[in-house]
Amino acid sequence: MTQWLAFAVQKIEELSILKRALNDGRKTVAAELAASARAVANRRTSPHIHDATVAARLAAASPAMRDRRSPYAVRQAAQADMLDLPAFPTTTIGSFPQTSAVRHVRAEHDRGNLGDAAYQQFLRGETERAIRWQEDVGLDMLVHGEFERNDMVQYFGERLSGFAFTAGGWVQSYGSRCVRPPILLGDVSRPAAMTVDWWRYAQSLTRKPVKGMLTGPVTILNWSFVRDDQPREISCRQIALAIRDEVADLEAAGARAIQIDEAALREGLPLRKRDWQHYLDWAVDCFRLSAAGVDDATQIHTHMCYSEFNDILPDIGAMDTDVISIETARSQMELLEGFARYHYPNAIGPGVYDIHAPRVPLQDEMVALMRLAQVHLRPEQLWVNPDCGLKTRKWDEVKPAIAAMVAAARTLRADLAGRA
Ligand code: GLN
Ligand code: ZN
Repeated sequence: MTQWLAFAVQKIEELSILKRALNDGRKTVAAELAASARAVANRRTSPHIHDATVAARLAAASPAMRDRRSPYAVRQAAQADMLDLPAFPTTTIGSFPQTSAVRHVRAEHDRGNLGDAAYQQFLRGETERAIRWQEDVGLDMLVHGEFERNDMVQYFGERLSGFAFTAGGWVQSYGSRCVRPPILLGDVSRPAAMTVDWWRYAQSLTRKPVKGMLTGPVTILNWSFVRDDQPREISCRQIALAIRDEVADLEAAGARAIQIDEAALREGLPLRKRDWQHYLDWAVDCFRLSAAGVDDATQIHTHMCYSEFNDILPDIGAMDTDVISIETARSQMELLEGFARYHYPNAIGPGVYDIHAPRVPLQDEMVALMRLAQVHLRPEQLWVNPDCGLKTRKWDEVKPAIAAMVAAARTLRADLAGRA
């Protein structure tokens, strides 16, 4: 596969080949040009790149596969019956602290110093502790905690066909954190379920609903290095079909809510405004293709990291998720004005505290933010959650913060009962 990839060393070599060609004539680099032409020709036919089953499936995907069975109002009633949640339901965005213990055990497993069974056992212990704590603290919709994931894109890339990985291709993602983005170089398919066992284990420990937790097709695409021999849109649709299969498997296993994160949807916007709508159309279409296969009663969530939403609200609306969580804490809910102006109909979890700082938020601050949210949106539309995933925080910060958040939601429920 390396014949199709060029990293720093190969690119410098290419530069020196070009220099030779320019100075001494094309003939002097005939061998190199022939090798390059061979690589390009190989790529056009290689079974490492092309999978006829994937192409056939994509060709057969019908427009109806992008649509949920019923409109939101009907789904909402079915979901209310199924989930039996209080007003202002509380949840988190998915990850819990990736402590140094978790990272150390993963590194030992990667190095071969810790066997699979022992690694799984460790992760099960972390997951069980997280479920017990979420029950104790009084959250309404739980998550398994993502302890088994190195990164929300790398984890899926490693389980899908069509992706390759580098040993040293690190990219800074946030602060001092780095990830190794997958290289998407072939047709994408899903050899086996990727998250169902972890979800099933977590759900077996509690009667409260545990969200299935997936990364969406657009975010997997935008956070990978993507092949240039076909439009990005096609690669994204292939990922969408793979995620759709995972969604179906989670639902069949009994998941009542499934979150499909599209943290990086906005990051794919082309620079030229005139190209925006084409991108947004296929990006939203891919999200819908991944999500829309479920029953009305299965609740689809998405999460989008801090973004300017105002100029893409019709597209956010077109995603037609049952619940979207967004980062709003630092902007004092200002983003919600846009959602209100647009008459956004579905449910929203506006983040009530900033997870990028170690500071533990006060209950009153979160109550105040949620009261501001109600200036813009109806109480029935609102969920209570942090701004983003909690993987970069410490348990000592997360525990009191979430306890205060749950207490804030109880205050809001009492407010609402008082008003009735
Ligand atoms: N589920 C992911 C997490 O909680 C979402 C993070 C993100 O969108 N950046 O970590
Ligand atoms: Zn986020």
